[in-house]
Amino acid sequence: MAHAIKYHPGMALLEQFAEGCLNADVALAVAAHIDLCPHCQQLQRDITTDLAGRLMQQRLKPDNTNWDAMLSNIMSQQEPAARTEVIEVPAQQVQVAGREFTLPRALQRLASKHGKWLQLGGIATAKIPAGSDYHISLLYISKDTEVPQHTHLGLEMTLVLAGKIADENGEYCAGDLLINSPDDTHTPRTLPDEDCLCLSVLSAPLQFKKGLTRLLNPLQQFFY
Ligand SMILES: [Zn+2]
Repeated sequence: MAHAIKYHPGMALLEQFAEGCLNADVALAVAAHIDLCPHCQQLQRDITTDLAGRLMQQRLKPDNTNWDAMLSNIMSQQEPAARTEVIEVPAQQVQVAGREFTLPRALQRLASKHGKWLQLGGIATAKIPAGSDYHISLLYISKDTEVPQHTHLGLEMTLVLAGKIADENGEYCAGDLLINSPDDTHTPRTLPDEDCLCLSVLSAPLQFKKGLTRLLNPLQQFFY
């Protein structure tokens, strides 16, 4: 791959991911990033090995905690166990705007259940069933298209799955994970010659800054 991933979840999120204490939808974005990022794959292996080691030691101390269950839970994250439930053939690809994109492994099962693509100008979005009260969707942005400037009422995570997107703070390529908090305002846009597919995780609707609020209300609903 010609580029290196620059935006990672960070150690705190990776540790919480390994411990299994992240919100299901945040965990999905982190898992999909790890699928795309050799650097975080290595970190994740180190974290789970370290965590397993600490739990092994704790297990030797008498108390009521079910260390064996915790340990097997953590170990099972390292090597995904064969699922015993109904086997579904996951969608490896997603089609939108006449384009076909390959999805990271972690996304394939849920993304195969995505809702109808809704289109607004050069932007298309399709909901993915969420594992919490968050909102997750696939977001396709045609080349040379701007998402109106907005701020965040909650957490916004955007994982670039293909192509490139830029905002006031930088340029993001496939695998880059952008995390925006309620204080961040930005105007994401695609480049003149490249479209983009993202995974979007929102804990609350976006708040659009420019133009008439009434005019932008449908936009808010479109993205959430
Ligand atoms: Zn990474």
